[in-house]
Amino acid sequence: MLEVQAQVESHYHSHLVNTLRAEGGTMITGKTTIRLAKQFGFCYGVERAIDLAYAATKVFVGNRIFLLGEIIHNPDVNAQMQSLGIRHLHARPTSSDFEEIGTGDIVVVPAFGAETETIEKIKSRGCRIVDTTCGDVMSVWKRVRQNAREGVTSIIHGKSSHEETLATASRARGADGSGRYLVVFDLEEAEFVSRFIEGGGDPKEFMKRFGSVSSPGFDPVRDLIRIGLANQTTMLRSETEAIQSRLRDAIAKRDHGDTSSFRVFDTICGATQERQDSLFELLDKTLDLLVVVGGYNSSNTTHLVEIGTQRIPSWFIRNASCLVSKDEIRHYDIHIKQEITSTGWLPESSSLSIGITAGASCPNNLIEDAIRRILELRGEKPPV
Ligand code: SF4
Repeated sequence: MLEVQAQVESHYHSHLVNTLRAEGGTMITGKTTIRLAKQFGFCYGVERAIDLAYAATKVFVGNRIFLLGEIIHNPDVNAQMQSLGIRHLHARPTSSDFEEIGTGDIVVVPAFGAETETIEKIKSRGCRIVDTTCGDVMSVWKRVRQNAREGVTSIIHGKSSHEETLATASRARGADGSGRYLVVFDLEEAEFVSRFIEGGGDPKEFMKRFGSVSSPGFDPVRDLIRIGLANQTTMLRSETEAIQSRLRDAIAKRDHGDTSSFRVFDTICGATQERQDSLFELLDKTLDLLVVVGGYNSSNTTHLVEIGTQRIPSWFIRNASCLVSKDEIRHYDIHIKQEITSTGWLPESSSLSIGITAGASCPNNLIEDAIRRILELRGEKPPV
């Protein structure tokens, strides 16, 4: 592991970021102030997943190693995996993916976990599995399995196509497949479900909306009697709390004040929470703009951008190459869900204070590159 950690460190380390953090997160260079959030970047789950994937290349020398989907949601880190010779399988493997793998092959399961059916099929092909699923994700599984055993429907607050939510939903079906689940993405969807709980409604209309994000054979009349809320570990705390209270109110209204048919487990992970809290703290300081670095498909990073945009101009970039010039920036728009180019992102004012944060899947070297590029565009001399 020492050898592995040294290699990981050499790929993702940043002396500048470490120094900046050690010095309290503020760096003043000429007329530009960079303020780094207290908690940012790689979380413990991501570090462990990367270490294990790197270790697999050293332990299973001579075996073919495959990665199920992405190790984490960061294209630069995934490209590093490929450069180590790790091959790619789709997160939901196709039949040709399954035909490709066989006895002696190693399959690395990413930090978000994988669906039970996928794991079983991989095993049935005779492959060995290196499971890097984060412990925090497994705690959510424990909760939804308990729901299944006790006849409670799991309401999963998450993005239905996200690997972690798919994996959690598969566990919510329980050991015998009889467990029920329903995925809600946001407060608006939770509102629809709550109104159905309160006053009934047309089950057909309900299923038209939620048929593809609920367990097979889901019946909203039967399956919303006892519900338990769990969330994808990387959701926005405030939204999860609002969903929680809306669903609880709906049960209370239907059951004349009795909320015993509603249960909730707080399954937002510590790392996500710390990054959101640190950003709120950072936004309380005087800032002209915020730069958030991370993979565009990263859920926890998207929520950091959501928090930032409520207060100041916030730019979601993949890496320093997005900072095209003083005027032009390529960035991800979380509303239209695509990378776009905008102008006028870096104000001309003589002194500027810029906040920086990064999602749990962003390595420090990418944060350093972004800081250096900002200073370069500002005409400041970057630190050695
Ligand atoms: S974001 Fe949370 S759940 Fe996901 S890998 Fe990191 S610690 Fe684990």
